[in-house]
Amino acid sequence: MSGHLFISVLSVYLLDKSIPPTPFGNETMPRKIDDICASPVESPALITRPAVAPIQMAAVYGCASTADASQILGGDVAGYVYQRDGHPNASQLAEKCRQLHRAERAMVFASGMSAISSVLLAQLAADDHLIVSDRLYGKTTYLLTQETKRFGIRSAVVDTLDLRHVAKAIEAKTKLLVVETISNPTLRVADIAALAEICRERDVQLLVDNTFATPLLCQPHTLGADWTLESMSKMMNGHSDVIMGLLTGRHDLWDRIPAVASAWGLGSAPFDSWLAMRGLATMHLRVDRACLTACEVAKYLAGNSLVASVDYPGLPAHPEHELARRQFDGRFGTMVTFQLADDTEVAAQRFIEACVDIHFCPSLGDIATTLSHPRSTSHRATSPEECRTLGISDGTIRLSIGVEATDSVVTSLDDAFGRFKDSS
Ligand code: PLP
Repeated sequence: MSGHLFISVLSVYLLDKSIPPTPFGNETMPRKIDDICASPVESPALITRPAVAPIQMAAVYGCASTADASQILGGDVAGYVYQRDGHPNASQLAEKCRQLHRAERAMVFASGMSAISSVLLAQLAADDHLIVSDRLYGKTTYLLTQETKRFGIRSAVVDTLDLRHVAKAIEAKTKLLVVETISNPTLRVADIAALAEICRERDVQLLVDNTFATPLLCQPHTLGADWTLESMSKMMNGHSDVIMGLLTGRHDLWDRIPAVASAWGLGSAPFDSWLAMRGLATMHLRVDRACLTACEVAKYLAGNSLVASVDYPGLPAHPEHELARRQFDGRFGTMVTFQLADDTEVAAQRFIEACVDIHFCPSLGDIATTLSHPRSTSHRATSPEECRTLGISDGTIRLSIGVEATDSVVTSLDDAFGRFKDSS
């Protein structure tokens, strides 16, 4: 056999071995270019398993039979037909989150706001009433008090730190109470077990937004909450590259959640779910480090003469310090808020400029430490009187602590205060 012929025979042999068979079996006739382009490819048959779950981007899945399609779409058999109704990456992520929250059911959503919307859409009807904590994320308050009005749902905004106010606000048609485990930005702590008891006695469902706590600090279902919400866009994903939400809940209340998520189009995308799964793999390490650093930062700030006050549940002076100690099992969270002694917007702006290593970034939960100015961001639409009641002023700065070395974060802040002082 000539050298040329040997190479040709060998390459045909190798090619034949390396190309998996097409869905149409062995080809006897060359296929038309149009058909090759348009035909689906088979996944390679593997005798090994990928170490990481693959991203499955399929918008739609082939069904073996009409019976299969009907049963999967009807929810009688597990499987996937159309991505809006569910996909493998969402299921994998939801299952991990369900376990983290010790919950009976879990679903991931396109955002934290979609997750909370799903509960409203599944559980409430015209003339129902809900109780809204006066310390919720601004967009949540807007959703619960304004958007719901258009559907005839009534709401009362209540100081949920005072349990007597909560009990008093419950009406015959009250269906839902919504609180945050740790509130933004002054980091007040909700007594979830006590709220759950009041709710149980009066047949009201308790929804807890656990975003600032994460399942590492708190699993609200174990304290009696009916629903738990997480904006996974924050610490749970942890890398500021995904917007996603999580809802966990009770089996007996779950019935309408998948239908609502599908009909209102609230579901998550495969790539986001995959990224969030990757972020979640290190949540315990990131949050643990950030909690440790936050404690040191809070102590540093408490001893700084340019700071008027510090809000951190880990400080003994915090109004819910003892509750936080019990409820969060010795951790106190990754967020620290403080008020500049010079309580003006000009001073806040000067401080932000002095923070060369800590960026002004009006979100939270990134791997890097960031800061925010609530008065000009999350609470810009809140009236000055309400801000005063909530303890938010022009000089309020909120820190989201990242995973840097603890002493580096404290040094960055100390340097910033040095520059801030020099610029006055
Ligand atoms: N809950 C809290 C406490 C938040 O801070 C946010 C967003 O900042 C949300 C809910 C809404 O989540 P998302 O932005 O993922 O829709």
